[in-house]
Amino acid sequence: MDFVDSHAHVWGAGFVPPAFFTRAAEGWAAKAPDRRPDMILPKLLSGIVDPDGDQFVANMDAAGVATSLIMMIDVGAPVFGEEPEVGVEAQIDYYAALQKRHPGRLYCHAGVDHRRPGHLDMVRRAIRDGGLVGIGEITPDGFSVADEAFRPLMRLAADLGVPVQIHTRTGVWTEFAGFDFSEANPVHPVHVARLAREVPDLKIVLCHAGFPHWWQRAAELIADLPNCVLDISNWNETLGHDEAELVARLATWRGLVGIERILFASDQASGARFSGERSELPHWTGFIRDLPARAARWGTRFTPAEAAAIAGANARRFYSLA
Ligand SMILES: [Zn+2]
Repeated sequence: MDFVDSHAHVWGAGFVPPAFFTRAAEGWAAKAPDRRPDMILPKLLSGIVDPDGDQFVANMDAAGVATSLIMMIDVGAPVFGEEPEVGVEAQIDYYAALQKRHPGRLYCHAGVDHRRPGHLDMVRRAIRDGGLVGIGEITPDGFSVADEAFRPLMRLAADLGVPVQIHTRTGVWTEFAGFDFSEANPVHPVHVARLAREVPDLKIVLCHAGFPHWWQRAAELIADLPNCVLDISNWNETLGHDEAELVARLATWRGLVGIERILFASDQASGARFSGERSELPHWTGFIRDLPARAARWGTRFTPAEAAAIAGANARRFYSLA
């Protein structure tokens, strides 16, 4: 089965400022009295680094993934009040080089915060000169994607004809769970639907498909917005304890938006912390590969062709990849 992982992350050294992991480090330290945040911080920072993407591609090989769409996230000053060692423009160059080093295996995105002066020029250069294939991941934190100030970047994406990937999971950054399930949360899919109506030419991926409580809302909101698709990254987190529910949700998504708008994705990160034995990717591809049999076990029907559409064909078509 041809797998395209439509949402994953590869990081170079110095792309993430220490402030990004501060909360995670504090959470780790709070669990035992002899722990201090500075004991874990260097491990968190270095554990995601893959300087040339080779380790990440080995992970893909182990899981049977042919192609991955790689996200860049601007986690610098506009969000964390601190710039990373490596600036945004140098990061774009890294992703352009990564894509060239792994032709047909890795396709990279440019993510530049719209509150950064010159962000439109940086993104235009990344797509036109660097050959990057999309914009993202956009993680709305302190703004909504429906905001007027965000619109120029989205018009640029529509003009360039590249998709934009927008985070629609309750939590952001290292606070994955989140706590605000109302529409006041800027990552609620309702904001994406508003944007999609304002810029109907724009192709949008709703990353994580509204995990965990907005899954049905996400699909309903985009049902009549044909340029929007769902990526099912993070849903593998429910695999171990709720396979029946996951199968039922896939069937509901299919009913609401059509099988052709459901994209396999993992949110897999790079680096030693997520590679080799620690990679969850093989379980996730295995689930989709066996979807027809597993669905039958839970009283639902998925054909092999539908499983193949989710696995890779939908992403290839949406991104016009060979
Ligand atoms: Zn995300």
